[in-house]
Order: sequence, then structure tokens, then C-alpha cells
Amino acid sequence: MPSDRSTRRIKVKLSPDQSYTAGDHLSVVPRNAPDLVRRVENRFGLQSAGLVRLNSANEGHSALPTGRPIELRTLLEDLIELQSPASRRDMNLLIKHTRCPDTKGKLEAMAGDEFREKIQSKRTSILDLLEEFPACELPFAVFLETCPNMVPRYYSISSSPKAGADRCTITVAVVDDIARNGKGTYLGVCSNYLAGLKEGDSLHAATRHPSAGFTLPEDPTRPIIMIGPGTGIAPFRGFLQDRAADKEAGTELGKAVLFFGCRHPEQDYIYREELEAWAADGVCDLHTAFSRAGKERVYVQDVLREQRASIWPMIEAGAKIYVCGDGGHMEPDVRRALTRIYAEEKDVSADEADAWFNGM
Ligand code: NAP
Repeated sequence: MPSDRSTRRIKVKLSPDQSYTAGDHLSVVPRNAPDLVRRVENRFGLQSAGLVRLNSANEGHSALPTGRPIELRTLLEDLIELQSPASRRDMNLLIKHTRCPDTKGKLEAMAGDEFREKIQSKRTSILDLLEEFPACELPFAVFLETCPNMVPRYYSISSSPKAGADRCTITVAVVDDIARNGKGTYLGVCSNYLAGLKEGDSLHAATRHPSAGFTLPEDPTRPIIMIGPGTGIAPFRGFLQDRAADKEAGTELGKAVLFFGCRHPEQDYIYREELEAWAADGVCDLHTAFSRAGKERVYVQDVLREQRASIWPMIEAGAKIYVCGDGGHMEPDVRRALTRIYAEEKDVSADEADAWFNGM
């Protein structure tokens, strides 16, 4: 069954000074896509082969290289973000640099009452607006001032160093969607940059240890419950590779259970063979939730409730519970499912169950 979505596993060979443990992040500094750079060049009539020299009003405060010539292409590809949503301040700059009364009026409306609807919720960028309003005369230098410095994106590492300490993998959903402003497609900067790399290419990346304690328990016999639908599976693949290596080495392991959810087993069940093999080998118990395979949408929290009898003894034994993925909807729903199980099993109030969850 075809799907128009794409998720990539990217294998990265680390430089010798980099190391990691399962659950760490890889920060990746992306590069703007050639098409995006071309849009800027076309709008300002520039040629990327040229050189520019940046001067900063606050000498020493700019993260960009100032006071010396740099290639325009380097600046546009590597150093600044080109599709961040316009702020109200940006809108005022556009208005200030527009003489055409018709365009000025439209921009003023967008900076005022229409800001939320036309700019914020549609993530309209300055570049989008400059293309929509050719009469706006924003100078290139001022445009540059509105562009934030390029920032790294963080991905959960989806491997364990026990499967090879000199490399890691990340699991990246390629963001390629209809633009919210209805004009063409929105391509995520970093995921498309990564998807476009060829074998052997270099990239700017570094391993990072997140502060949230997203690590396997120090005591390998402590039970663990992992909940990771979609690409939220990423760190758990690392955990399971780790446990598989430990098991192979004869380490005694506590019980582990993974709840994975996706749309359809034939569409986006990523890492299926590995997960099923680990389940067959006793590295973990595996429970799946498919949201678009039957009449009813089944989500990880539904399967959690179904599996209450098997997970409750793990919780009572002090299981470490991990949730990874969409923090907007899935995490609150999973939290509700877990606190409900806790409240019912312990016969306590919802507030006490919340306190238990918050204490974890
Ligand atoms: P996805 O494919 O959009 O969704 C995965 C599954 O979750 C689908 O079956 C979906 O069902 C279901 N779902 C939707 N709403 C839900 C809810 N309220 N509760 C439980 N399940 C729900 O997922 P994705 O695109 O891979 O995104 C996963 C999230 O993980 C993203 O927010 C991403 O930023 C985050 N993340 C990624 C990484 C990484 O390293 N790549 C690391 C950490 C977190 P429907 O059919 O209803 O859509």
C-alpha cells in the first residue's frame, strides 16, 4: 500500500572526538536547499558567485563572520535561516520600506488584525511576503538582519554504541507538506537536507547528552516501559540494541516492553523486522497500535489500557517509564491513560495519580 510520507534512517560516522550513550541526541546543522537560496537571489537580483562583507553595528556581537569578505552562497546556504515566520517587527520593516500605497495598505493589515491568521498560523516568511509583494523595496542588507542565524536541529540517536561506537543512526521523518499559506510545498530544512545527502558526504553534527535523564536505568534488572509511536521509536531502537548486546553478553536483564504505534503495518511500521526479532528473542515485549488499518483508530494509549494486567506489576516493581514523540497530543493522552491505571489500581484520587506521574 503506497504512502507519500518518507522516513529515513541516516547512518553517521562520528569523528574520533565524539561519543554517545543510547538515548543521546545528535545535533545537526543543516544547509538551506538550493531552490530556497535561488528564491532569495531572484528576489534581490543577486548572483551567489559574488562576495559580501558584513558589518555589525555591535562589533563582536554577531555570530556571523563580519568585517571580511565571505561568499554570498556560503551566507545564504549555511549561515542564516530563510524560512522562519515573519515577526511583527519584520512586518514593520517591510512597511517602512514600501512606498506603493496599495502594497503598504495590505502589509499594514497583515501586521495588524490579520497577523495571526495570515502570518502566524500560516508560518508566512519574509521571503514569501517579498515574493507576494514585488513593490516592497526592502534592501538586501535589511533582509539579512531579519534572518535568524542557522541553528542546529536535534534528533534522538536511534542506535547504541554497543552496535558500533564510531557511528550512530538517526531516524528522520522527511517534512514535505502542502504549505499552510497554500502556496506550493513546505520543505523542512534539516530533514530534506539529510534526505538529500549522498553516501560519503560530510555534515556538521555533534552528539549531545540530554538533561532529561533519557537513559537506560543504571540497574539493568529494573523493568522499563517504552512508549514511542512514529519516529518517537528512535531512542528506543537505541535502547533495544543496547539490551540485545547486553543479553548476548549474558547480562541479567529486567523486563522491557515497547508500545509502538503507526498508521498501517504495511505503510509506516518502521524497524518492523528488528522489533519482531527482538520480541522473539526476549529482548522486549512488543505491542503495536495501528491507527489506519481497521475501522477504529487504535493508539498506543488504547493498547496500554488493554495491557494493564501485564504492565501494572512492572510499575509496582519500579519500572522506568519513557514516552517519546508528539508532545502536543500523544503525550497528554498517554499520561491520562497511565494516571488512570494508577488511580484504579491503587484506588486513589486523580490528583494523587497526577502527583505520582509528576514525581517520575
Ligand atoms: P506520525 O506518523 O504522525 O504518528 C504516529 C502514530 O501516532 C500514528 O498512528 C498516529 O495516528 C498516532 N497518533 C496521532 N495522534 C495520537 C495521539 N493523540 N495519541 C497517540 N497516538 C497518536 O508520527 P511522526 O510523524 O513520526 O511524529 C512523531 C513525533 O515524534 C513528532 O512530533 C517528532 O517531532 C517526534 N520525535 C521525533 C524524534 C526523532 O528523533 N526523529 C525524536 C523524538 C520525538 P493518526 O493516524 O491518527 O495520525
